[in-house]
Amino acid sequence: MSREKLSFLRDEYVNLEAAGLNWRLRTLEGSSAPHCIVDGKKVLMLCSNNYLNLTNHPKLKEAAKKAIDTHGVGSGSVRPIAGNMDLHLQLEKKLAAFKHSEAALVYSTGFAANAGLIPQLASEGDLIISDELNHGSIIDGVRLSRAERAIYKHCDIGDLEGVLSKAQGKYRRVLVISDGVFSMDGDIAPFDGIVKLASEFGAITYVDDAHGDGVLGEKGRGIASHFHVEGEIDVEMGTFSKAFGVVGGYISGGEDLRTFAFNKSRTWLLSGSHPPPIAAACIAALEVVENEPQHLQALWKNTDYFKKQLREMGFDIGGSQTPITPVIVGESTVAQKISAMLYEEGVFALPIVFPMVARDKARIRTIMNAGHTRPDLDAALSSFQKVGRKLKIL
Ligand SMILES: *Cc1c(COP(=O)(O)O)cnc(C)c1O
Repeated sequence: MSREKLSFLRDEYVNLEAAGLNWRLRTLEGSSAPHCIVDGKKVLMLCSNNYLNLTNHPKLKEAAKKAIDTHGVGSGSVRPIAGNMDLHLQLEKKLAAFKHSEAALVYSTGFAANAGLIPQLASEGDLIISDELNHGSIIDGVRLSRAERAIYKHCDIGDLEGVLSKAQGKYRRVLVISDGVFSMDGDIAPFDGIVKLASEFGAITYVDDAHGDGVLGEKGRGIASHFHVEGEIDVEMGTFSKAFGVVGGYISGGEDLRTFAFNKSRTWLLSGSHPPPIAAACIAALEVVENEPQHLQALWKNTDYFKKQLREMGFDIGGSQTPITPVIVGESTVAQKISAMLYEEGVFALPIVFPMVARDKARIRTIMNAGHTRPDLDAALSSFQKVGRKLKIL
Protein backbone atom coordinates (compact mmCIF):
# COMPACT_ATOMS: atom_id res chain seq x y z
CA MET A 1 0.00 0.00 0.00
CA SER A 2 2.58 2.50 1.09
CA ARG A 3 4.43 1.97 -2.16
CA GLU A 4 1.35 3.17 -4.01
CA LYS A 5 0.98 6.24 -1.81
CA LEU A 6 4.53 7.16 -2.63
CA SER A 7 4.23 6.57 -6.37
CA PHE A 8 4.34 10.35 -6.86
CA LEU A 9 8.00 10.22 -5.88
CA ARG A 10 8.86 8.31 -9.00
CA ASP A 11 6.59 10.48 -11.19
CA GLU A 12 8.25 13.63 -9.93
CA TYR A 13 11.68 12.19 -10.44
CA VAL A 14 10.85 11.18 -14.01
CA ASN A 15 9.79 14.78 -14.65
CA LEU A 16 13.03 16.10 -13.16
CA GLU A 17 15.01 13.73 -15.32
CA ALA A 18 13.11 14.72 -18.46
CA ALA A 19 13.87 18.38 -17.74
CA GLY A 20 17.52 17.55 -17.11
CA LEU A 21 17.24 18.86 -13.53
CA ASN A 22 18.04 15.66 -11.65
CA TRP A 23 21.29 15.17 -9.77
CA ARG A 24 23.47 12.21 -10.52
CA LEU A 25 25.81 11.66 -7.60
CA ARG A 26 29.52 11.19 -8.20
CA THR A 27 31.56 9.29 -5.64
CA LEU A 28 34.96 10.24 -4.30
CA GLU A 29 37.01 7.23 -3.31
CA GLY A 30 39.47 8.52 -0.75
CA SER A 31 40.02 12.10 0.28
CA SER A 32 39.08 15.37 -1.40
CA ALA A 33 42.38 16.61 -2.78
CA PRO A 34 43.71 18.31 -5.94
CA HIS A 35 44.22 14.82 -7.38
CA CYS A 36 41.51 12.37 -6.43
CA ILE A 37 39.50 9.41 -7.59
CA VAL A 38 35.96 10.12 -8.79
CA ASP A 39 33.80 7.18 -9.89
CA GLY A 40 36.86 5.00 -10.17
CA LYS A 41 38.88 7.39 -12.33
CA LYS A 42 41.89 9.49 -11.35
CA VAL A 43 41.06 13.13 -11.99
CA LEU A 44 42.24 16.64 -11.32
CA MET A 45 39.71 18.19 -8.92
CA LEU A 46 38.49 21.52 -10.30
CA CYS A 47 35.18 21.94 -8.49
CA SER A 48 35.64 21.51 -4.75
CA ASN A 49 35.39 24.42 -2.30
CA ASN A 50 38.58 23.24 -0.62
CA TYR A 51 40.29 26.52 -1.61
CA LEU A 52 43.28 26.31 0.73
CA ASN A 53 43.70 22.55 0.43
CA LEU A 54 43.25 22.10 4.18
CA THR A 55 41.07 18.96 4.03
CA ASN A 56 44.20 16.79 4.36
CA HIS A 57 46.46 19.18 6.25
CA PRO A 58 48.48 17.19 8.85
CA LYS A 59 47.78 19.73 11.62
CA LEU A 60 44.02 19.47 11.13
CA LYS A 61 44.10 15.69 11.05
CA GLU A 62 46.31 15.53 14.13
CA ALA A 63 44.00 17.91 16.05
CA ALA A 64 40.96 15.83 15.15
CA LYS A 65 42.60 12.57 16.26
CA LYS A 66 43.79 14.08 19.51
CA ALA A 67 40.34 15.46 20.33
CA ILE A 68 38.83 12.01 19.90
CA ASP A 69 41.19 10.73 22.59
CA THR A 70 40.53 13.59 25.01
CA HIS A 71 36.85 14.33 24.27
CA GLY A 72 35.33 11.35 22.42
CA VAL A 73 33.53 11.33 19.09
CA GLY A 74 30.25 13.01 20.06
CA SER A 75 29.17 15.95 22.22
CA GLY A 76 26.21 14.13 23.76
CA SER A 77 23.71 16.94 23.51
CA VAL A 78 22.66 20.29 22.12
CA ARG A 79 24.81 23.10 23.48
CA PRO A 80 22.20 24.77 25.75
CA ILE A 81 21.71 21.51 27.68
CA ALA A 82 24.83 19.38 28.06
CA GLY A 83 26.75 19.69 24.79
CA ASN A 84 28.67 22.93 25.31
CA MET A 85 32.31 21.88 25.39
CA ASP A 86 35.49 23.82 26.13
CA LEU A 87 36.48 23.10 22.51
CA HIS A 88 33.43 24.99 21.20
CA LEU A 89 34.29 28.02 23.30
CA GLN A 90 37.94 27.91 22.26
CA LEU A 91 36.88 27.77 18.64
CA GLU A 92 34.61 30.79 19.04
CA LYS A 93 37.32 32.81 20.81
CA LYS A 94 39.79 31.98 18.08
CA LEU A 95 37.29 32.79 15.37
CA ALA A 96 36.46 36.19 16.89
CA ALA A 97 40.18 36.96 17.07
CA PHE A 98 40.62 35.90 13.43
CA LYS A 99 37.66 38.03 12.31
CA HIS A 100 38.76 40.99 14.48
CA SER A 101 35.30 40.96 16.05
CA GLU A 102 34.03 41.01 19.61
CA ALA A 103 32.40 37.59 19.52
CA ALA A 104 31.49 34.62 17.36
CA LEU A 105 29.03 31.74 17.52
CA VAL A 106 29.39 28.39 15.78
CA TYR A 107 26.42 26.52 14.25
CA SER A 108 26.43 22.98 12.86
CA THR A 109 26.46 24.34 9.29
CA GLY A 110 26.33 27.60 7.40
CA PHE A 111 22.89 26.67 6.21
CA ALA A 112 21.78 26.30 9.84
CA ALA A 113 23.26 29.72 10.68
CA ASN A 114 21.28 31.49 7.94
CA ALA A 115 18.08 29.51 8.50
CA GLY A 116 18.30 30.01 12.28
CA LEU A 117 19.37 33.61 12.62
CA ILE A 118 17.79 35.55 9.74
CA PRO A 119 14.15 34.95 10.84
CA GLN A 120 15.05 36.14 14.34
CA LEU A 121 16.66 39.37 13.19
CA ALA A 122 13.61 40.56 11.29
CA SER A 123 9.96 39.87 11.96
CA GLU A 124 6.53 41.46 11.62
CA GLY A 125 6.83 45.14 10.84
CA ASP A 126 10.35 44.77 9.46
CA LEU A 127 11.75 44.58 5.93
CA ILE A 128 14.48 42.31 4.55
CA ILE A 129 16.19 43.52 1.39
CA SER A 130 18.04 40.81 -0.48
CA ASP A 131 20.30 40.65 -3.57
CA GLU A 132 18.44 38.80 -6.35
CA LEU A 133 21.19 36.16 -6.60
CA ASN A 134 21.56 35.37 -2.90
CA HIS A 135 22.28 31.79 -1.82
CA GLY A 136 19.42 29.35 -1.18
CA SER A 137 20.13 29.22 2.56
CA ILE A 138 19.57 32.98 2.79
CA ILE A 139 16.37 32.61 0.78
CA ASP A 140 15.14 29.92 3.16
CA GLY A 141 16.08 32.03 6.18
CA VAL A 142 14.09 34.92 4.72
CA ARG A 143 11.13 32.62 4.03
CA LEU A 144 11.05 31.63 7.70
CA SER A 145 10.75 35.26 8.75
CA ARG A 146 7.48 37.18 9.18
CA ALA A 147 9.14 40.28 7.75
CA GLU A 148 8.25 41.75 4.37
CA ARG A 149 10.75 41.12 1.60
CA ALA A 150 12.23 43.15 -1.22
CA ILE A 151 14.79 42.23 -3.85
CA TYR A 152 17.39 44.48 -5.44
CA LYS A 153 19.18 43.93 -8.73
CA HIS A 154 22.35 41.90 -8.49
CA CYS A 155 25.14 43.98 -6.90
CA ASP A 156 23.32 47.16 -7.99
CA ILE A 157 23.91 49.89 -5.40
CA GLY A 158 21.63 52.33 -7.25
CA ASP A 159 18.76 49.87 -7.15
CA LEU A 160 19.40 49.13 -3.47
CA GLU A 161 19.28 52.86 -2.74
CA GLY A 162 15.92 53.07 -4.51
CA VAL A 163 14.50 50.22 -2.40
CA LEU A 164 15.89 51.73 0.83
CA SER A 165 14.50 55.17 0.11
CA LYS A 166 11.06 53.79 -0.76
CA ALA A 167 11.06 51.88 2.53
CA GLN A 168 12.06 54.86 4.62
CA GLY A 169 9.82 55.46 7.63
CA LYS A 170 7.59 52.47 6.86
CA TYR A 171 9.26 49.76 8.91
CA ARG A 172 10.51 49.16 12.43
CA ARG A 173 13.80 47.70 11.17
CA VAL A 174 15.38 47.15 7.77
CA LEU A 175 17.90 44.37 7.12
CA VAL A 176 20.09 44.35 4.00
CA ILE A 177 21.51 40.93 3.25
CA SER A 178 23.88 39.68 0.57
CA ASP A 179 26.35 36.99 -0.30
CA GLY A 180 29.90 38.34 -0.10
CA VAL A 181 31.16 36.31 -3.06
CA PHE A 182 28.54 34.91 -5.43
CA SER A 183 29.08 31.23 -5.98
CA MET A 184 27.93 30.97 -9.60
CA ASP A 185 29.82 33.95 -11.04
CA GLY A 186 32.63 34.52 -8.55
CA ASP A 187 31.88 38.25 -8.37
CA ILE A 188 32.10 40.27 -5.13
CA ALA A 189 29.20 42.20 -3.58
CA PRO A 190 30.02 45.94 -3.27
CA PHE A 191 30.04 45.95 0.52
CA ASP A 192 31.87 49.28 0.69
CA GLY A 193 28.82 50.88 -0.91
CA ILE A 194 26.29 48.68 0.88
CA VAL A 195 27.73 49.65 4.28
CA LYS A 196 27.66 53.33 3.39
CA LEU A 197 24.07 53.27 2.15
CA ALA A 198 22.90 51.19 5.10
CA SER A 199 24.39 53.64 7.53
CA GLU A 200 22.66 56.57 5.75
CA PHE A 201 19.33 54.78 6.00
CA GLY A 202 19.86 53.19 9.42
CA ALA A 203 19.61 49.66 8.01
CA ILE A 204 21.25 46.57 9.52
CA THR A 205 23.79 44.79 7.28
CA TYR A 206 24.33 41.02 7.01
CA VAL A 207 26.92 39.32 4.82
CA ASP A 208 27.14 35.63 3.97
CA ASP A 209 30.87 35.27 3.42
CA ALA A 210 30.93 31.52 2.76
CA HIS A 211 33.20 31.97 -0.27
CA GLY A 212 35.11 35.00 1.06
CA ASP A 213 36.40 33.82 4.43
CA GLY A 214 39.84 32.28 4.04
CA VAL A 215 40.01 33.72 0.51
CA LEU A 216 39.56 37.50 0.54
CA GLY A 217 41.22 40.25 2.53
CA GLU A 218 44.29 40.34 4.75
CA LYS A 219 45.20 36.75 5.76
CA GLY A 220 41.84 35.63 4.37
CA ARG A 221 39.82 37.52 7.00
CA GLY A 222 37.02 37.92 4.47
CA ILE A 223 35.09 40.57 2.65
CA ALA A 224 35.09 43.18 5.43
CA SER A 225 38.88 43.19 5.38
CA HIS A 226 38.86 43.23 1.56
CA PHE A 227 36.85 46.49 1.54
CA HIS A 228 38.44 47.92 4.72
CA VAL A 229 35.08 48.00 6.50
CA GLU A 230 35.97 45.70 9.41
CA GLY A 231 33.57 46.25 12.29
CA GLU A 232 31.08 48.04 10.03
CA ILE A 233 29.06 45.04 8.82
CA ASP A 234 26.63 44.22 11.64
CA VAL A 235 26.42 40.47 11.08
CA GLU A 236 29.10 38.42 9.33
CA MET A 237 28.25 34.83 8.61
CA GLY A 238 30.56 32.16 7.21
CA THR A 239 31.39 28.49 7.07
CA PHE A 240 34.14 26.02 7.89
CA SER A 241 33.05 23.78 5.00
CA LYS A 242 34.85 25.74 2.28
CA ALA A 243 38.29 27.36 2.58
CA PHE A 244 38.76 25.99 6.11
CA GLY A 245 38.34 22.43 4.87
CA VAL A 246 36.13 21.05 7.67
CA VAL A 247 32.42 21.76 8.35
CA GLY A 248 30.36 24.19 10.45
CA GLY A 249 28.69 27.56 10.15
CA TYR A 250 29.31 30.68 12.18
CA ILE A 251 28.38 34.24 12.79
CA SER A 252 30.67 36.98 13.99
CA GLY A 253 29.96 40.45 15.36
CA GLY A 254 29.19 42.01 18.73
CA GLU A 255 28.72 40.21 22.06
CA ASP A 256 25.02 41.18 22.00
CA LEU A 257 24.63 39.52 18.61
CA ARG A 258 26.16 36.30 19.92
CA THR A 259 23.99 36.15 23.04
CA PHE A 260 20.84 36.98 21.09
CA ALA A 261 21.68 34.47 18.36
CA PHE A 262 22.17 31.50 20.67
CA ASN A 263 19.10 32.30 22.70
CA LYS A 264 16.87 32.60 19.64
CA SER A 265 18.15 30.46 16.75
CA ARG A 266 16.14 27.27 16.64
CA THR A 267 18.72 25.56 14.43
CA TRP A 268 21.25 26.17 17.21
CA LEU A 269 19.07 25.43 20.23
CA LEU A 270 17.54 22.24 18.88
CA SER A 271 20.41 20.55 17.08
CA GLY A 272 23.38 18.59 18.44
CA SER A 273 26.67 20.46 18.71
CA HIS A 274 29.87 19.78 16.78
CA PRO A 275 31.61 16.50 17.55
CA PRO A 276 34.94 17.21 19.33
CA PRO A 277 37.18 16.20 16.37
CA ILE A 278 35.33 18.65 14.14
CA ALA A 279 35.63 21.54 16.60
CA ALA A 280 39.34 20.74 17.08
CA ALA A 281 39.97 20.56 13.33
CA CYS A 282 38.26 23.95 12.90
CA ILE A 283 40.53 25.46 15.58
CA ALA A 284 43.56 24.00 13.81
CA ALA A 285 42.30 25.38 10.48
CA LEU A 286 42.20 28.91 11.93
CA GLU A 287 45.72 28.46 13.29
CA VAL A 288 46.99 27.26 9.92
CA VAL A 289 45.33 30.17 8.12
CA GLU A 290 46.92 32.63 10.59
CA ASN A 291 50.40 31.06 10.52
CA GLU A 292 50.84 29.67 7.00
CA PRO A 293 50.19 32.46 4.49
CA GLN A 294 51.64 30.33 1.69
CA HIS A 295 48.28 28.61 1.09
CA LEU A 296 46.46 31.87 0.40
CA GLN A 297 49.33 33.08 -1.78
CA ALA A 298 49.29 29.86 -3.81
CA LEU A 299 45.52 30.06 -4.21
CA TRP A 300 45.70 33.55 -5.72
CA LYS A 301 48.73 32.77 -7.85
CA ASN A 302 46.85 29.82 -9.33
CA THR A 303 43.70 31.89 -9.73
CA ASP A 304 45.45 34.70 -11.61
CA TYR A 305 47.29 32.29 -13.89
CA PHE A 306 44.28 30.12 -14.71
CA LYS A 307 42.01 33.08 -15.45
CA LYS A 308 44.60 34.79 -17.63
CA GLN A 309 45.23 31.64 -19.68
CA LEU A 310 41.52 30.91 -20.15
CA ARG A 311 40.93 34.49 -21.30
CA GLU A 312 43.84 34.34 -23.72
CA MET A 313 42.48 31.13 -25.21
CA GLY A 314 39.28 33.03 -25.92
CA PHE A 315 36.95 31.60 -23.27
CA ASP A 316 34.26 33.78 -21.69
CA ILE A 317 34.87 33.76 -17.92
CA GLY A 318 32.32 36.46 -17.08
CA GLY A 319 32.97 38.97 -14.32
CA SER A 320 34.66 36.71 -11.80
CA GLN A 321 37.06 38.38 -9.34
CA THR A 322 37.77 35.33 -7.19
CA PRO A 323 39.03 31.71 -7.39
CA ILE A 324 35.54 30.74 -8.62
CA THR A 325 36.00 30.86 -12.38
CA PRO A 326 33.02 30.11 -14.60
CA VAL A 327 33.70 29.09 -18.19
CA ILE A 328 30.52 30.30 -19.86
CA VAL A 329 29.56 28.25 -22.91
CA GLY A 330 25.88 29.00 -23.62
CA GLU A 331 23.41 26.13 -23.89
CA SER A 332 22.94 23.66 -21.02
CA THR A 333 23.50 20.68 -23.30
CA VAL A 334 26.85 22.10 -24.44
CA ALA A 335 27.97 22.61 -20.83
CA GLN A 336 26.97 19.04 -19.98
CA LYS A 337 28.87 17.70 -22.97
CA ILE A 338 32.01 19.67 -22.10
CA SER A 339 31.93 18.43 -18.53
CA ALA A 340 31.68 14.81 -19.74
CA MET A 341 34.52 15.33 -22.23
CA LEU A 342 36.70 16.96 -19.56
CA TYR A 343 36.10 14.01 -17.27
CA GLU A 344 37.32 11.68 -20.01
CA GLU A 345 40.43 13.86 -20.17
CA GLY A 346 40.90 13.45 -16.42
CA VAL A 347 39.52 16.84 -15.37
CA PHE A 348 36.61 16.98 -12.92
CA ALA A 349 34.48 20.11 -13.28
CA LEU A 350 30.71 20.16 -13.22
CA PRO A 351 28.28 22.05 -15.43
CA ILE A 352 26.00 24.68 -13.91
CA VAL A 353 22.85 24.99 -15.96
CA PHE A 354 19.36 26.55 -15.95
CA PRO A 355 17.66 27.23 -13.54
CA MET A 356 20.77 27.87 -11.44
CA VAL A 357 21.91 30.32 -14.12
CA ALA A 358 20.16 31.91 -17.13
CA ARG A 359 19.30 29.56 -20.04
CA ASP A 360 21.96 30.94 -22.36
CA LYS A 361 24.63 31.26 -19.64
CA ALA A 362 25.28 27.61 -18.87
CA ARG A 363 28.83 27.10 -17.74
CA ILE A 364 31.52 24.86 -16.38
CA ARG A 365 32.32 26.19 -12.94
CA THR A 366 35.94 25.78 -11.95
CA ILE A 367 37.33 26.53 -8.51
CA MET A 368 41.02 26.97 -7.88
CA ASN A 369 42.87 25.22 -5.09
CA ALA A 370 46.10 26.18 -3.35
CA GLY A 371 47.35 22.63 -3.93
CA HIS A 372 47.18 22.75 -7.74
CA THR A 373 50.63 22.83 -9.31
CA ARG A 374 51.51 24.71 -12.49
CA PRO A 375 51.66 21.40 -14.46
CA ASP A 376 48.19 20.55 -13.08
CA LEU A 377 46.80 23.82 -14.35
CA ASP A 378 48.53 23.51 -17.70
CA ALA A 379 47.08 20.04 -18.15
CA ALA A 380 43.59 21.33 -17.29
CA LEU A 381 44.00 24.29 -19.62
CA SER A 382 45.07 22.14 -22.52
CA SER A 383 42.07 19.87 -21.94
CA PHE A 384 39.78 22.91 -21.96
CA GLN A 385 41.35 24.10 -25.20
CA LYS A 386 41.09 20.71 -26.86
CA VAL A 387 37.43 20.30 -25.89
CA GLY A 388 36.63 23.93 -26.76
CA ARG A 389 38.06 23.50 -30.26
CA LYS A 390 36.35 20.18 -30.80
CA LEU A 391 32.99 21.77 -29.99
CA LYS A 392 33.84 24.92 -31.97
CA ILE A 393 33.52 27.24 -28.99
CA LEU A 394 37.01 28.57 -29.61
C1 LIG B 1 27.96 26.81 0.95
C2 LIG B 1 27.20 28.01 1.30
C3 LIG B 1 26.42 28.06 2.45
C4 LIG B 1 26.19 26.86 3.32
O1 LIG B 1 27.29 26.57 4.10
P1 LIG B 1 27.41 25.13 4.79
O2 LIG B 1 28.27 25.38 5.95
O3 LIG B 1 28.06 24.23 3.78
O4 LIG B 1 26.04 24.70 5.16
C5 LIG B 1 25.78 29.24 2.76
N1 LIG B 1 25.92 30.33 1.97
C6 LIG B 1 26.67 30.31 0.85
C7 LIG B 1 26.79 31.55 0.03
C8 LIG B 1 27.32 29.15 0.47
O5 LIG B 1 28.04 29.14 -0.66
